[in-house]
Amino acid sequence: MSKVVAAAAVRGSHAVAAQAEEKLKAALEKHGEGQPLAFPETAFYLPMAYALLGLEVSTLGEARQVLETVKALLPEEPSERLWLPYLSSALDAGIATLLAEELLKALAYLEGEEPLEGWHGFISDTILRTLGIQLVDGRLPGFAAVVGAAPDTETAVHVIRELQKRNILTFLIGNHQGRTMRDQLIEAGVLPRDASETEDGDLQKAWWGRYIVPLGPDTESIIYALNWAIRGALTFGGHKKGDWKACLDYTRARIFAFGLGLGDIDDLKYASGAGAINMGFPVICDTEIPEIRPTGVCTYEELVRELDHQRIVETCVEVRGVKVTVSKIDIPVPVAAAFEGETVRRDDMQVQFGGKYTKAFEYLRMREMGEVEDGKIELVGPDCDAVEVGGAMPLGFRIEVAGRKMQEDFEPILERQVHTIVNHAMGVFHMGQRDLTWVRISKDAFAAGLRLRHLGELLRAELLQKFPAIVDKVQITIYTDEAEIDRVLAEARPVWQARDARVAGMTDESVDIFYSCTLCQSYAPNHVCVISPERLGLCGAYNWLDGKAAYEINPAGANQPVPKGRVIDEVKGQWEGVNEFVYQASNKSVERFNAYSLMEDPMTSCGCFECIMAILPEPTGEVHGVMIVNREYPGMTPCGMPFTTLAGTVGGGMQTPGFLGIGRLYIVSRKFISAEGGLPRVLWMPKELKEALAERIEERAKEMGLEGFLGKIADETVATTMEELMPWLQEKDHPALKMPSLL
Ligand code: SF4
Repeated sequence: MSKVVAAAAVRGSHAVAAQAEEKLKAALEKHGEGQPLAFPETAFYLPMAYALLGLEVSTLGEARQVLETVKALLPEEPSERLWLPYLSSALDAGIATLLAEELLKALAYLEGEEPLEGWHGFISDTILRTLGIQLVDGRLPGFAAVVGAAPDTETAVHVIRELQKRNILTFLIGNHQGRTMRDQLIEAGVLPRDASETEDGDLQKAWWGRYIVPLGPDTESIIYALNWAIRGALTFGGHKKGDWKACLDYTRARIFAFGLGLGDIDDLKYASGAGAINMGFPVICDTEIPEIRPTGVCTYEELVRELDHQRIVETCVEVRGVKVTVSKIDIPVPVAAAFEGETVRRDDMQVQFGGKYTKAFEYLRMREMGEVEDGKIELVGPDCDAVEVGGAMPLGFRIEVAGRKMQEDFEPILERQVHTIVNHAMGVFHMGQRDLTWVRISKDAFAAGLRLRHLGELLRAELLQKFPAIVDKVQITIYTDEAEIDRVLAEARPVWQARDARVAGMTDESVDIFYSCTLCQSYAPNHVCVISPERLGLCGAYNWLDGKAAYEINPAGANQPVPKGRVIDEVKGQWEGVNEFVYQASNKSVERFNAYSLMEDPMTSCGCFECIMAILPEPTGEVHGVMIVNREYPGMTPCGMPFTTLAGTVGGGMQTPGFLGIGRLYIVSRKFISAEGGLPRVLWMPKELKEALAERIEERAKEMGLEGFLGKIADETVATTMEELMPWLQEKDHPALKMPSLL
């Protein structure tokens, strides 16, 4: 703790205590011991004294006990020569200040000096009950006690708008050189001057409705905000009077308040700030104050300097860890989970992105807190009205998130949420992941005014709403400029590869628990992905570690642990625990499931698969091998169907022996259809897929004693029909031809 800060807080506490002593003495002389003393409309006497000291002060005589405690708490000012730890002195000074300020304000009420005209003063229990519950259950993300005044009206408006944008309730307190923030906001037309400027003549209602409440023009008025907060611990926390530790723990843990000092900080402001810090409320100032950054009393830092008024509210939110929620998602179409399964047919479509038509991607990264400007949504390239009805455009979402508890491991989970969130908008269809996405906007949604930046707003709002524990800030760049898309994709692809590589080396045998994924049940209600270390989700975006991280973030979410239980068939990959889980999660439609088999009780397929694998019946009626086609390949395949037709046969959450949707990395897994012999069964793949996996296929084939196997897999350059394929395979002496028939 800075000696400068501690010394100022101690001086401030002495001054306010002396003032309280003098006023109490005068009041006792004037009114006598038995004179009732109370704030209006509260059952908590002098709330701070009641909560922290357990005192039920109802007369002037009883107020003496408060003063005695204040005097006992007052520390000595830190010495010039002797070094001592200053923290406890400053904290004691802070508590003494709060108690003295409360006494002063109660005495002012006795004399009819409060509330001043145009100021709110004490906050009643009724308001505590109506608004306080929102404060402690998170609907109101927090409150700001703004002490002082902004350097000019424009800055005052900017600061207040930033607070309002985040739904943060703001109390205006004190002044800076006689100027108050209330005056600045009245001048700017943000606050009504008096009741005559309100709609219904109710000034208080106008203040609370705007989330801006001027409490009083002096620093001592901060006690109105703080004794409102401490009543939260008694009312909603159920803590007993006098249990000061529980009450202070409660305010720190449950009430996301902070002090924002604008203008010079004098001794009384330091002392009041020290009081707020005791309650776990940090203070952020716009002047050159010494900082107190080690955490301990508050959740994060205690006293922070932020000289940039453009950033100051953001800094406050970060330092207090306020969880900003977006209560209303302001986009021109309805948003609901009910629209998740909705598709947009070609005839109803205004514009589409990705699929087989254009490049499209979604890419999410975590950043440092200071690197993300929450709410910033930028569009790089033309908006979707730049193409004709029914046209296609490239599209990329680059989402940057920051959070005190965010981890790199959570990136894929959040990235995969893009699918669900975008589908929540009525008239928008989304499918796929990473650089294999496909988005359609309907004519109706477009006519309602929906444009690309609205999808950015939707993504930000829902990421904040769904992941409050890890996401504090979100900024999104939306790309439709193809050169920019290529640039970001070049950055994203190695990141995706690194995510996939994390799980390499783990085996299914080394874990007792797999993870489920039911995210795609919006399209395929009975589909369940069972994700094991050696078999990733069909979409290719979720591996076992992702499932584990997703469960950590949201234990009630779509990724649940699946205990393997007793082994039923080691070769086919069947376990009792997995069967039981899949039966329940598939709405009792899938009784058995073999993780490593294509032909017998294979996994179900949704619609998000990266690739489809299908058996290739030969003219003889035998089946020696399979083909694999990836989503990007538009041409014909040897099974007589292109990817799109095959997808209609395989998807929908059904088990279809002989056909399987898979993530492309499953092809190089040791468990790739191991029940049927594994990799040597692959007869045909599109050239692009073969090349993308070439190194890994070679490696895996070598492990199986099949060096040079890659060269024996056919592609579209040599065959797209069975008539062309069979002689080619025979010429290459493909190992599958010597394996038993799959039928
Ligand atoms: S394909 Fe599977 S892993 Fe991927 S999101 Fe859908 S259910 Fe989850």
